[in-house]
Amino acid sequence: MSSCPTLYRNYVDGQFVESARRFPNVSPVNGAVIGTVCEADASLVDRAVSAARAAMHGPWGNTSATERAKVLHAIADGIEKRFDAFVAAEVADTGRPEHQARALDIRRGVQNFRTFADLAAQAGGEYFDMRAAEGDIFSYTVRKPHGVVAIISPWNLPMLLLTWKVAPALACGNAVVVKPSEETPGSATLLAEVMHEAGVPAGVFNLVHGFGVDSAGEFLSTHRGIDTLTFTGESRTGSTIMKAVADGVKEVSFELGGKNAAVVFADCDFDKAVAGVMRSSFTNTGQVCLCSERVYVERSIFERFVGAMKERAEALRIDYPNADGVEIGSLISHGHREKVLSYFALARDEGATVVCGGGVPRFGDERDNGAYVQPTIWTGLPDSARCVQEEVFGPVCHIAPFDSDDEVVARVNDSRYGLAASVWTRDLSRAHRVTRRFDVGIVWVNTWFLRDLRTPFGGTRLSGIGREGGRHSLDFYSSLTTICVNP
Ligand code: NAD
Repeated sequence: MSSCPTLYRNYVDGQFVESARRFPNVSPVNGAVIGTVCEADASLVDRAVSAARAAMHGPWGNTSATERAKVLHAIADGIEKRFDAFVAAEVADTGRPEHQARALDIRRGVQNFRTFADLAAQAGGEYFDMRAAEGDIFSYTVRKPHGVVAIISPWNLPMLLLTWKVAPALACGNAVVVKPSEETPGSATLLAEVMHEAGVPAGVFNLVHGFGVDSAGEFLSTHRGIDTLTFTGESRTGSTIMKAVADGVKEVSFELGGKNAAVVFADCDFDKAVAGVMRSSFTNTGQVCLCSERVYVERSIFERFVGAMKERAEALRIDYPNADGVEIGSLISHGHREKVLSYFALARDEGATVVCGGGVPRFGDERDNGAYVQPTIWTGLPDSARCVQEEVFGPVCHIAPFDSDDEVVARVNDSRYGLAASVWTRDLSRAHRVTRRFDVGIVWVNTWFLRDLRTPFGGTRLSGIGREGGRHSLDFYSSLTTICVNP
């Protein structure tokens, strides 16, 4: 971890900028202060937005998609060159297993730049032949950048989620001002260094650190100089930001919270289903927006399924990020642990049976100062319980039995969220019948989390607005002009 920077600076107009207001970066593994973050004030955010605007008026505003693709591939090369430093930064900030940061987070960061570089370079416009009605007249579309894109991202998959938005925004020719979570300044700061080294023109990529309310997040989202805003985070924050941008009628894309269901039919491959639901409930210590916190199991296999989940959950290895075989890391912070523990207490108040977990592991070493909790399984709650309706965002799921397809569809849809669901069955006709009735953005059949970056991604209801991914990202990060020609 020695290669992690200890002073996290802002990056504005091609320069690293310190600031007087600073806050500590605390390790969730042992509570130690591992860095200091320079918080951007309103005037620095203003400078970042102005720099982005100026970059759009400079040569960057006139680049072709092919030229920008070269820049994006150079950024991807730069991340690959400093792969270990990115892994270390991500692990230090989040406490997640190092093997996950290596196999998923940083690798996906590289893929995001390469995928959107190529997609944007290959994207054409539309052509409409109007000859029959109007002589030789035809119309076509041209794709242009919006201008200045504000990107506000969360802490749970910091590099993956930030680059998921930075890459297509730059590929479409915009300039960006990004505000990563205050919990995870590390990989974003390294990304600024990579941008600098890759020769990205000054002002095209700007990074401002800070919190939400009365800090960089609010200064950015309320800034009149941004053209478009894209946000990933809690539904409540999304609602606040939506109000903030309403006056300027800015286009937004929101990827928000989830309370996702996994549905296990009696005809599933039992072992695969158990392994799959273990992954979908406990990956990243349950801190993935796509995690399943509600599990519905067909009644004939319910008891056996709960027993198998209990056995596996109790055997999960909770450890240091770099320990051999580690499966569960810490939560992101002590503050978040308080929230998760409050749900553990609420579940008891609401009458849950605690099948396993429900507390804090004791290590007898420095990790007792960290933000760990035990993987937890509940049964016995009604669907109306707060613990079944509200997003906990920790390593926890509630398992309930069901009796029929219609019943389970209604129960899956009985949620204010609508992000994702998964289904475990050998009967693919049933899978097709059932999945299309779920009111969510993405459904997996006999798998979870697999993503083709060309497919649309997003949620319904409290889980978000809009779709990103593939051409949907190109559409969001660009503006289409129709040109009608009478030759
Ligand atoms: P959060 O909403 O607390 O914070 C997200 C970002 O918004 C941070 O950078 C934060 O500083 C900033 N922010 C907070 N208040 C703000 C304000 N008033 N104005 C402007 N910016 C503000 O979310 P979090 O706790 O960092 O992330 C966890 C949440 O994100 C969960 O709800 C999870 O489901 C959701 N999430 C959704 C997706 C998805 O793709 N749908 C992906 C990952 C995470």
